[in-house]
Order: sequence, then C-alpha cells, then structure tokens
Amino acid sequence: MENCIFCKIGKGEIPAHKIYEDQEFFAFLDIKPHAKGHTVLIPKKHGLNALDYNDEDLSRLMCVIKKIMLILKKKLNPDGFNVGWNDGSAAGQVVPHLHLHILPRYNDDNGGSMHSIIKNPQVDVEDVAKLFK
Ligand code: AMP
Ligand code: ZN
Repeated sequence: MENCIFCKIGKGEIPAHKIYEDQEFFAFLDIKPHAKGHTVLIPKKHGLNALDYNDEDLSRLMCVIKKIMLILKKKLNPDGFNVGWNDGSAAGQVVPHLHLHILPRYNDDNGGSMHSIIKNPQVDVEDVAKLFK
C-alpha cells in the first residue's frame, strides 16, 4: 500500500537491518528495541491485521516465526522469547500493517510477561463466561 512504511521496508525502499527474508515475509531489527535482538516480522503483502490474511498465509507466518527464533537463538542465545503483536490502536498498534514482535528474553533482563501488558482486576471471569454460553 502506498505510503505504508512497512510495505516500503518489505520492498527495500526504506533501509532496515534485515535478519530474514523470503518471497512473502521480511524480518528486521526494531529501530527502538525493547530487548537485544527485538525483531519485527511482516508479511510483504499489506494487511492491517490477521483478519486480512488467509489461513495459508498465517500458517506460513507461524513457520517463519520459528525460523527467526532459531536465527536469534543461534546469534544471541537468549533464555526465552515473547512473541506477539499489537492488534488495533487500543492494543498499542502504531503502524497499520500487520507485524509481529519477536522479543528475545534473558534471565536477568528485568522484563515482565504478557500478563504485564494489562491488568484489569475488576473483571469477573464468571460474568464474562456467561456471555459465551
Ligand atoms: P507497533 O506499536 O506494534 O505498531 O510497533 C511498531 C514498531 O515498529 C515499533 O516498535 C517501532 O520501533 C518499529 N518501527 C517503526 N519504524 C521502523 C523502522 N523504520 N525500522 C525498524 N523498526 C521500526
Ligand atoms: Zn503496508
């Protein structure tokens, strides 16, 4: 899509620190890393979020996540990873092109888990469960 920064990175029109590329996907180091080796993985095809891609695209995306984890493991030897994406501005998505954050984690990095993104203790799980019955 025109004027999409991640489309431009995927096409090589804007420079990035590439760590992986194939016909469909491109992965590069986040310009403002939250961890050593913080990587952004994009499909080259533009879409806002996962709902814009078919199941085959998303299956291949999962395989590429694994490849990138192996690359990062080999180069940086992290102790773990957080992998995920911000879907929608309410969730912190700034760039409107689907992208996964792959965050290598180290035993002494003082970071939190996925649970530290949001805490909403007034939510009663029993009330919410009723909505799914
Ligand atoms: P999000 O909040 O999920 O939309 O995250 C967008 C991410 O893309 C942020 O972590 C940015 O630091 C990163 N980012 C934005 N522009 C670039 C760029 N030109 N090169 C590398 N990373 C970028
Ligand atoms: Zn795009």
